[in-house]
Amino acid sequence: MSDIAIAQQAQMRPIIDLAGEKLGIPAEHLDPYGHYKAKLSLEYVNNLTDREDGKLILVTAISPTPAGEGKTTTTVGLGDAINRLGNSAIMCLREPSLGPCFGVKGGAAGGGYSQVVPMEDINLHFTGDFHAIGVAHNLLSALIDNHINHGNALDIDSRRIQWKRVVDMNDRALRKITVGMGGPANGYLREDGYDIVVASEIMAILCLATSRVDLKERLGRIVIGYKSDRVTPVYASDLNAQGAMAALLKEAIKPNLVQTLENNIAIIHGGPFANIAHGCNTVTATKTALKLADYVVTEAGFGADLGAEKFLDIKCRMSGLKPSAVVLVATVRALKFHGGVAKEELNQENIDALQKGFTNLERHLDNIQRHYGLPCVICINHFTFDTDAEIALLKDKCEALGAKCVVSKHWAQGGAGAEELAQEVLAVVDNREPGFTYVYDEELPLWDKIETIATKLYGAIGITASPKVKAEINTLQQNHGKFPVCMAKTQMSFSTNPNERGAPSGHTVEISEVRLANGAGFIVAIAGDMMTMPGLPKVPAAERIDITDDGVITGLF
Ligand code: ADP
Ligand code: MG
Repeated sequence: MSDIAIAQQAQMRPIIDLAGEKLGIPAEHLDPYGHYKAKLSLEYVNNLTDREDGKLILVTAISPTPAGEGKTTTTVGLGDAINRLGNSAIMCLREPSLGPCFGVKGGAAGGGYSQVVPMEDINLHFTGDFHAIGVAHNLLSALIDNHINHGNALDIDSRRIQWKRVVDMNDRALRKITVGMGGPANGYLREDGYDIVVASEIMAILCLATSRVDLKERLGRIVIGYKSDRVTPVYASDLNAQGAMAALLKEAIKPNLVQTLENNIAIIHGGPFANIAHGCNTVTATKTALKLADYVVTEAGFGADLGAEKFLDIKCRMSGLKPSAVVLVATVRALKFHGGVAKEELNQENIDALQKGFTNLERHLDNIQRHYGLPCVICINHFTFDTDAEIALLKDKCEALGAKCVVSKHWAQGGAGAEELAQEVLAVVDNREPGFTYVYDEELPLWDKIETIATKLYGAIGITASPKVKAEINTLQQNHGKFPVCMAKTQMSFSTNPNERGAPSGHTVEISEVRLANGAGFIVAIAGDMMTMPGLPKVPAAERIDITDDGVITGLF
């Protein structure tokens, strides 16, 4: 059965009832969006500070492949399993973007019997957070062009405006555009472009903000470009934009509650791109969940070299969050892909390729254990094609490295299929204090931070950059030297070449560009090409999505 068919059979409970029964949240603190989605009031969130925190579990994965790994599915399955074992667990997920939904990926609300529902709503518009972020972003864009039109008192260099426009769609035709065409009545002609909403700095800001006050301050700090002297930054606060932007985000800042197929609560809030931004849900959602449950299971985008790295070095550093353990999701199929097998042949047993591709898992495992000092449980997300010989080999190899490795069948069986995984994870989590070490110290210069990530985690021998980029890093060092670095690198490989599977080493990472995300509070270091406005594939998922005469959505997966 397809993901959507399973989701549509769910016996959903009214979210107000469920949140009351399971978490004791009074109805007056929930703003229902229909019967099955609700926003939690910030007043309630802010009154939880005295409670003790639950334990945080991070779900991450090996380097992604076209074969799919199942981080979201595993996050949901593991959370359901922890609940089945009689504990309380909340899952914290990211909101899906419409771009990938209509592109290659289809939905992003888990899969099989480990999903969050109502999956159609979660995948399409949800509670409108992304629209609010898009509008807040575009308001600032409009204020910039308007300011220039009315005399440009701030002396903004219109050729060096960094603040583009955004839309939540994969639309490559908008990557570079010209605005202000049509003569003096329409302002000044200049080059501009669109990014996808999830790449907006406002998305990253919303995810890192700890209060309305912090949100507004961060919005005001956004650097939109430079004055004609080329060095003086122009801030969103120079345009008095932050108040109206924060007003537009009035509801978006509140966490969204939904449920899993097994009627457990999940909080789905925020969804920054894992390349240009840090790729994890909001700090508010994670912190709230920790106050409401004994265990919180959350995921970070892409593989552990990107997603977990940014979760730990950016999100946790900024918020003080401390995970207790990491679950590293791998599949036999994906490891065979890393071992050189073509996508079409992944369903056939191939022990040699599995041996070879295992290097990818080994590197991620080593990074988590050695460089972050975190215990790691490996979850083999079971596919029906996996053979006994393949599974046995994988378990042996993991155990030889001293890592716990569990075959998990939550996709096929829901929480019941992940009970063993849950038991292993809880055994680890319950027996240690939360905490870990960052891979770099905040005092380290920006260049050295990037170099540390590249050499320690990516297996590189070093980093390079053009004299121009080096100079830019030196300039940023003066005022933003303590910022963490948000790496933008292909998720497909430890190197900057997406075709280098497994665990490449000895490579040099070239930093092609650096950007200041001053409101978010990090420096983006771009290694290789980076897409901030994806395109649609030749046959987009959109062609399969439909709605029946009765209003039932089909074709999401
Ligand atoms: P990620 O979060 O890592 O991108 P998802 O959890 O969203 O991955 O899963 C991607 C897709 O793979 C989903 O459509 C899901 O249904 C499918 N999938 C995940 N695990 C399995 C599995 N064990 N067997 C078959 N399909 C799976
Ligand atoms: Mg996912």
